[in-house]
Amino acid sequence: NYRCRSAFKLLEIDDKYKLLKPGFNVIDCGAAPGAWSQIAVHRVNSTGANGEFPRGTVVGIDLLRIAPLDGAHFLSNHDITDPVTHAKLLELLPGAQAHVIMSDMAPNASGFKEMDHEKLITMSLSLIDLAAKVLQTGGSLICKYWDGALAHQPQQKLSAVFRDVRTVKPKASRKESSELFFLARSYRENKIV
Ligand code: SAM
Repeated sequence: NYRCRSAFKLLEIDDKYKLLKPGFNVIDCGAAPGAWSQIAVHRVNSTGANGEFPRGTVVGIDLLRIAPLDGAHFLSNHDITDPVTHAKLLELLPGAQAHVIMSDMAPNASGFKEMDHEKLITMSLSLIDLAAKVLQTGGSLICKYWDGALAHQPQQKLSAVFRDVRTVKPKASRKESSELFFLARSYRENKIV
């Protein structure tokens, strides 16, 4: 049982691209109520339930409170754009490194499409800064955004630091919504920024 229907979007993306592997360290941005973290806990084996595979780590962050979940560390009432949050993340991640950063974050929709689009684009840009601090070479990033005039900004920035950047629209995402996901893979060591 998943805490939220958004689970099906991540399941679809990860079934196809296989980003979450046993032993991986994952950051779940905008984790409340915790469905994406539930999937990550299972797939990276962060409870150690499967003794034959390495044990991963899942750290979830949200402005809201997130109810506890076996196998996950949650930073409730934390803002992902805050450097204090970044410092705590570095402490919680083994080796201070993540293999995957995923974000289903969304600002509270104002109802003004342009404004909401801009806010979410700004948030996606801040994830690229977070990647520079914690993402290991070869790592990947999944990031929700709402399509619009500024979508090329994060797209270009991602393309400068990842080898493979694409846009995906899971079937579980409502057709009439402008919701899309950046899927960026193979984080580079020598970044062209
Ligand atoms: N993926 C989640 C799941 O499967 O349960 C659902 C995430 S929900 C669509 C978006 C979340 O992003 C909200 O809970 C919201 O509080 C959070 N959020 C928005 N801005 C944030 C920020 N700056 N830092 C942390 N979380 C944020």
